[in-house]
Amino acid sequence: MSPATLPSSVDVAVIGAGAAGIAAARRLVRPGLSVIVLEARDRIGGRAHTIERDGVALDLGCGWLHSADENPLAKLAEAAGLTIDRTPPPWERQAFDHEMSAAEQAEFGAFEKRVAEAAAQGREGPASELFDPDSRWNARIDAISGALNGARFAEVSIQDYDAYRDTDVNWRVVEGYGRLVERLGAGAPVVLDCPVSRVDRSGPTLRLDTAKGSAEARAVILTLPTDLIAAEAVRFDPPLPELAEAAAHLPLGLASKLHLSVTGAEDFPKDSQLWGRSDTPETGGYHLRPFGRPMIEAWFGGGIARQLEAEGEAALFAFASEELANLLGSSFRKRIAAVAASMWGADPWSRGVFSHALPHHTGDRARLKAPVDNRIFIAGEATSQSFYGTAHGAWLEGERAAEEALATLGLVSG
Ligand SMILES: Cc1cc2nc3c(=O)[nH]c(=O)nc-3n(C[C@H](O)[C@H](O)[C@H](O)COP(=O)(O)OP(=O)(O)OC[C@H]3O[C@@H](n4cnc5c(N)ncnc54)[C@H](O)[C@@H]3O)c2cc1C
Repeated sequence: MSPATLPSSVDVAVIGAGAAGIAAARRLVRPGLSVIVLEARDRIGGRAHTIERDGVALDLGCGWLHSADENPLAKLAEAAGLTIDRTPPPWERQAFDHEMSAAEQAEFGAFEKRVAEAAAQGREGPASELFDPDSRWNARIDAISGALNGARFAEVSIQDYDAYRDTDVNWRVVEGYGRLVERLGAGAPVVLDCPVSRVDRSGPTLRLDTAKGSAEARAVILTLPTDLIAAEAVRFDPPLPELAEAAAHLPLGLASKLHLSVTGAEDFPKDSQLWGRSDTPETGGYHLRPFGRPMIEAWFGGGIARQLEAEGEAALFAFASEELANLLGSSFRKRIAAVAASMWGADPWSRGVFSHALPHHTGDRARLKAPVDNRIFIAGEATSQSFYGTAHGAWLEGERAAEEALATLGLVSG
């Protein structure tokens, strides 16, 4: 099913084999319709990426089936024979009640309530305007923003943050979320190692230039991360400045993951969490014993992720060791070892993790997904209004774009 070479002409070309691209391809594949997925990397999945270390699946990208009760990928995971873990997430369980107390949880809840009320009144601006200036937890609230948005709340739109739909049900795939997307894409017609550099839209058919030659298509589905669309990594002729501009207003934040092994893990509650510090947002979150494993999944969001990624993988480990030693005693350093780290900021095919709308730009999600010439359709996590930033949001948007392409070709969905 996977073509090694590029066909010279297809009905629909999908650019990118992440969650959105795979969902689109699955929706499109049917007798009589030729579809190709062009993927720059040597693998399927994009920001969904599972690696294996010592027989254990580790997600470097998405890990949580957020809003799992409404998440189509949860059902698809079970149908694919993968294992769903329904253990409550660590952010609901602070180890030893350390630092994060009921008071802090209440502060974050109160902040989100103020955001919701402000949004309902039509207010827009940076979500940080709704911090309580007298609260001692504002640094922590911004650290949480690092995890949720990959950026501080000063960079996040009130309206957009409020539009996200969280049902508070969060599950995981034991074999890995990346593995799930990869498995769902196994039958799709994907050409790997095939970055697209240009789409000529001046003629009656679209002409795509790729690293493996050129191809013509009647319709294109573009699923690039927003930072790449904004940088015009795929050049359109004639250009599409409105598309690049909308994407630039939905930049990718940065969050880095560091998987650590730990000895004597039984000392810690399973699937619990610690924060490094409470007085600064430039700190790490530490998920202790994910899936009950003798491991720690460290998470750095926003500015600290940018700083540590720039310094290199060793800096992530040094920072985590320092924070954990401060929390748990200096001998703890000897109990941990680095297993794997993510470096999404330096990744040329993503350049970040997930999108947030800048203040006053929540409307750019709709602008980004407006069809061009009724034959270029845009999908990805960033075009989702309420599940942006997630793999299932990307999936649903891929399906939506596929429906639009089918309609344009005069085909009804089936
Ligand atoms: C560290 C991290 C943690 C996350 N945690 C979660 C989580 O717990 N739960 C959750 O739901 N989501 C999470 N996410 C977000 C989720 O992974 C993404 O929102 C989702 O995978 C994006 O899918 P997509 O199809 O929109 O984009 P991508 O997966 O980025 O797919 C785009 C594809 O386009 C390809 N491409 C780029 N340029 C070109 C080109 N020129 N030509 C051809 N192909 C190109 C890329 O290689 C990529 O494969 C996380 C992401 C990261 C990085």
